[in-house]
Amino acid sequence: MPSEPDVIIIGAGTSGLSAAKELDKLELSYQVIEGSHRIGGRAYSEEIAPGIWFDLGCSYLHQADNNPFVAIADKLGVVVGKDHGDIFTDARIRLYHNGTALGSDDREACYAYRTECFAAVRAATDRGDDVAIADLVDLDNPYALPFMNMMAELNAADIDETSCADFASVLEGPDFPVLNGYGNLVAAWGGDVPVALNTRAERIDWSGNGVAVATNRGTLRARTALCTVSTGILAANDIDFVPGLPDWKLQAILGVPTGTENKICLHFDQDVFGPQGRGFHTTWNDQGVSAGFEASVMGQNTAIVFTGGRHGIWLEKQGQLAGREYAVDRVAEVFGSDIRAHVSRAIVTAWNTEPWTRGSYSCALPGQARQRGKLARALDERLFFAGEATTVGDHACCHGAYNSGIRAAREIKAALA
Ligand SMILES: Cc1cc2nc3c(=O)[nH]c(=O)nc-3n(C[C@H](O)[C@H](O)[C@H](O)COP(=O)(O)OP(=O)(O)OC[C@H]3O[C@@H](n4cnc5c(N)ncnc54)[C@H](O)[C@@H]3O)c2cc1C
Repeated sequence: MPSEPDVIIIGAGTSGLSAAKELDKLELSYQVIEGSHRIGGRAYSEEIAPGIWFDLGCSYLHQADNNPFVAIADKLGVVVGKDHGDIFTDARIRLYHNGTALGSDDREACYAYRTECFAAVRAATDRGDDVAIADLVDLDNPYALPFMNMMAELNAADIDETSCADFASVLEGPDFPVLNGYGNLVAAWGGDVPVALNTRAERIDWSGNGVAVATNRGTLRARTALCTVSTGILAANDIDFVPGLPDWKLQAILGVPTGTENKICLHFDQDVFGPQGRGFHTTWNDQGVSAGFEASVMGQNTAIVFTGGRHGIWLEKQGQLAGREYAVDRVAEVFGSDIRAHVSRAIVTAWNTEPWTRGSYSCALPGQARQRGKLARALDERLFFAGEATTVGDHACCHGAYNSGIRAAREIKAALA
């Protein structure tokens, strides 16, 4: 490693790792620094039972017909659930109200309401009205509760805090699960990138020629810096910029906050779902509680219960045991109370208070969808930005982070040329 490389990359999540690989191709030198003890960032898998992996962060290869990690997985021999790409389609999702599966008329009414909501989001976006989704939908509809819950799980923010244009920009496509963990896939793919772990950027000085990055292990100098941390980290001022970031950049950071989606993974000591129970389930009750959960999609004997937005933050504050209990209640609502005796282990995520991300993934506030472009914009051809929040259409996704790293590496090449 040269003592003053072309680029210091801050963060060894997917975007930092993909930028490093692209810089290799472009024949530029770099130093990647990562504050935590591991690479992967929000792509991270843990073994909940021997041989059974749970992704605390990304788990689906979204937009799988245009997702570079599908080919990477194939190359690395990683098993991807290509037969499950329709897991989130209307035909596959099972709906339950007060523990009873909806009949076909009710299912149709539920999906008709959802279609109406999405059409209103699309129409407002096409008119150029970037308003909150909550302002566009009928909240008195009997199916409003599961809709609001699904949106909070998807966007990591409630619909009154979600820009309709940001939501409408999301690209569609199949969603492939990764049997042994998307986090493990990213770690295997990124494992050949040299990274200085436990090295936290504290200050980035871009006032003179080149940049100086002060870390807990000394100051590094380079021609440019690439910052890949989340908007949650930037908004919390965890990194000091000298000079301070311009107002337009600060507004972009605040306009696209890192929201909260948490997951509670339950592992069962036997198959409590049966082959017919595998898939995605949405449940809600007259006490106003609604949740979506994935049950043993690839035969893992796990249920993964999702919770997002304010409810996700609230539940996280209640602690791990409350999270576990909440998840068990939701699964029992659908599969009966006998499942309670078979829960062998639970892992409860806490992304809102995770110190290296301060949230799960980005969601633009109403009126702020255009800020993603500004988040991506470089300063003075010296300070560059990547990360899932800097992309449009594949934002909030692991492959969006990957694409943003390549984009930033090419910008750096052009600037240094
Ligand atoms: C619960 C959850 C579910 C998700 N589900 C999916 C999904 O199914 N499919 C999908 O495609 N995506 C999903 N995502 C989103 C996906 O995981 C992220 O978009 C992607 O991993 C972000 O990569 P990144 O490089 O932008 O950021 P990060 O992964 O956050 O990388 C940034 C890195 O910077 C490091 N860092 C922070 N501060 C400093 C500092 N001061 N100095 C040095 N290093 C620092 C962090 O430790 C981190 O490693 C999910 C995320 C979560 C949390």
